[in-house]
Amino acid sequence: MDNRKYSRRSFLDRSTRGLAAAGAMGIYGKLDLPEERVKHNSQKDIIFRDLGKTGVKLPIVSMGVMTATNPEVLVRAYEKGVRHFDTAELYQRGNSEKMIGDVINRMGVRDDVVISTKVWAISHNPKRRNEISNPSSPEKVRQYFIEDFEGCLERLKMDYVDILYQHNVTYDNSVNARVAMTNPGILEALEELKSTGRIKYTGATAHFNMASVLNEAARSGVFDVVQISYNFSMSDDDELKDAIKNAKDNKIGVVAMKTQTGGEGRDKTPINQTAVLKWVLRHEGVTTAIPGFTNFDHLDEDFSVASDLEYTSEEREFLESEDVIKKLDFCRQCSSCEDTCPRNADIPNLMRSHMYARKYGDFFEAKSTLKMGTENIISLYPCMECNECLAKCIRSVNISKNIEELKLLFA
Ligand code: SF4
Ligand code: SF4
Repeated sequence: MDNRKYSRRSFLDRSTRGLAAAGAMGIYGKLDLPEERVKHNSQKDIIFRDLGKTGVKLPIVSMGVMTATNPEVLVRAYEKGVRHFDTAELYQRGNSEKMIGDVINRMGVRDDVVISTKVWAISHNPKRRNEISNPSSPEKVRQYFIEDFEGCLERLKMDYVDILYQHNVTYDNSVNARVAMTNPGILEALEELKSTGRIKYTGATAHFNMASVLNEAARSGVFDVVQISYNFSMSDDDELKDAIKNAKDNKIGVVAMKTQTGGEGRDKTPINQTAVLKWVLRHEGVTTAIPGFTNFDHLDEDFSVASDLEYTSEEREFLESEDVIKKLDFCRQCSSCEDTCPRNADIPNLMRSHMYARKYGDFFEAKSTLKMGTENIISLYPCMECNECLAKCIRSVNISKNIEELKLLFA
């Protein structure tokens, strides 16, 4: 790290949001250090892992910048050792990208960090969405995907991003060909962006069918990194565990999201945050996790895991408690409830939207998610005229209550 580029004081002097006293630097060198573990200012070791075949090594705790709005949290995260910041074109209507770009560029540490963003294969522009509803027109898909990505670069004020994810893919193109990870227009766009240096690595994100997406990425070699939803509610999913291992064996970087199932309201939940984060990271196939901490306390709590994955007795007790799955209250998007709805509502998507609204307090993301369901249908439509919800979760998600809450918010 070149201290001429960044000091906390120089950043703060230029920042429009003042901070308290400038603290110790606490900064170590570049990402591509050969050591597996690097000392930082607390003298504890940070655990690094390889991001697949990219040659990049990342601390096992990174930052998901979905709902964070305080740039000082990003500065502090960098100082503590976070080197990967994850965003998406949709997060905070593009303001997440703007904030990351502003912070990283002001600090002058662009080359020391890994920035990822995501573009949705179905353009968020409704006119374009209609135009590309036919996946047999790959040229339009390619063009719009690249144009949407150029918007990301503009907001980030960067020449390139490290990882560009095709957002929210499905493995099975018979379900929704437009968002399939084999969509030829998207694959062409990713290849073009990589060959012209506007992205370094290609990626795909999956909120459901994670095992299939990981296995396909491992088979095809097209994607360098896969970001998956992964948390303790999936602890009995051996297929997914095997797919993570398979991805590691095939040198695919795996980034874990939704690790604590929480979001903004985490202080109000009975979840032991470090226990569930450690559980995810104890899978060696997971390169790094991107908890979405939004304040200093949550940052400190989550980053403490980066140097120590041993469970405390309290954490172990939490994970072994009988009602842990209920406490997590997480829809793992398994679709097992599909046949219990007489109107074929896209329940997994509805539950995901509910999570963003209730747990993250992110109504924009919740609304956008409702549009991401089964083709051309806003996921809440089938529920609008339905007076009694008969849908049942095979686990512990209260579908009818959640749908009532969604109706109050969005109907
Ligand atoms: S309210 Fe329940 S049963 Fe009715 S359409 Fe929606 S998910 Fe299906
Ligand atoms: S509501 Fe339950 S059964 Fe339905 S997708 Fe979510 S976890 Fe699976």
